[in-house]
Amino acid sequence: MLDTIRKWKRRRVLAHSAIPEPLWREALESLPFLAIYTDAELSRLRDLVVVFLSEKSIVPARGFQVTPLMRVVIALQACVLILNLDPRYYAGWESVIVYPDEFVSELEYEDEVGVVHRRHEPLAGEAMPGGPVVLSWPDVEASADWETAGMNLAIHEFAHKLDMRSGDANGCPPLPAEMPPRSWQKAMNAAFEHFRARVENGEDTAIDPYAAESPAEFFAVLSEVFFADPTLLLHEYAKIYELFAWFYKQDPASRTELLLEE
Ligand SMILES: [Zn+2]
Repeated sequence: MLDTIRKWKRRRVLAHSAIPEPLWREALESLPFLAIYTDAELSRLRDLVVVFLSEKSIVPARGFQVTPLMRVVIALQACVLILNLDPRYYAGWESVIVYPDEFVSELEYEDEVGVVHRRHEPLAGEAMPGGPVVLSWPDVEASADWETAGMNLAIHEFAHKLDMRSGDANGCPPLPAEMPPRSWQKAMNAAFEHFRARVENGEDTAIDPYAAESPAEFFAVLSEVFFADPTLLLHEYAKIYELFAWFYKQDPASRTELLLEE
């Protein structure tokens, strides 16, 4: 019954909130990593974006003006992660807050001895467990093109959101029933330790060294690489690529290699 209501609501949203074609085209063009998707997939992605924008509010902060293009660009990057997953993976939180620049986090955290702190350094993005995703628009815009930026802020924060489905981010999101958490953790820990050692040795890594910060950051940064530069992840950490292909139910490297052969 609930499922029937959900499907009916979804059909109603899709019928009433279409994205105008020129706006959709402009958003796609600003995200070159989406070039590997087929028309059928992009059309499913478009439906997901419409539903995402009907369910989440994109809230401007500090007097910022959020344009329709910004809304679609943010939603597109959120939805590419769940293209083949259950859209309910983003349930339990309501909004994306968009700042005109870097911002100082409102989030408090407790250290090992129980003292509560707040971070004071400015952030480009943040995901809060059970709360909003917060983004600095100039950083979203600057990282939309992987070729120039080598990072993708929006994918990073939405990957944290998937990780946070089971509470605080720890690099091990809730996995589908057929995926044994033990093998995920074993492979992720081994790759994380390997990467951390490379960074500590001063190696100039092609993957953002920020991934060495913690297992949660490792998952978020490697998710950026998986979507925006899949062959890099495949060549550097094939086992993780394989796990992510299983988790996200996508195989982006196979398509990138096909594109390169054309
Ligand atoms: Zn992060």
